[in-house]
Amino acid sequence: MCSSGGPMADLSMKKLKTKKYKCLDCGNEFKGLGRKVICPSCQSDNVELRE
Ligand SMILES: [Zn+2]
Repeated sequence: MCSSGGPMADLSMKKLKTKKYKCLDCGNEFKGLGRKVICPSCQSDNVELRE
């Protein structure tokens, strides 16, 4: 009954696919998710996807 398993096994499956973006207005680099990404600093949508 008291076997030690890995209760955190499904934690890796919750990894979100975030991408790196850079705001072209204020130069802030951040991680975005989804199609419409806005800069968290200045709320601009003039952002560039970084690889
Ligand atoms: Zn910005």
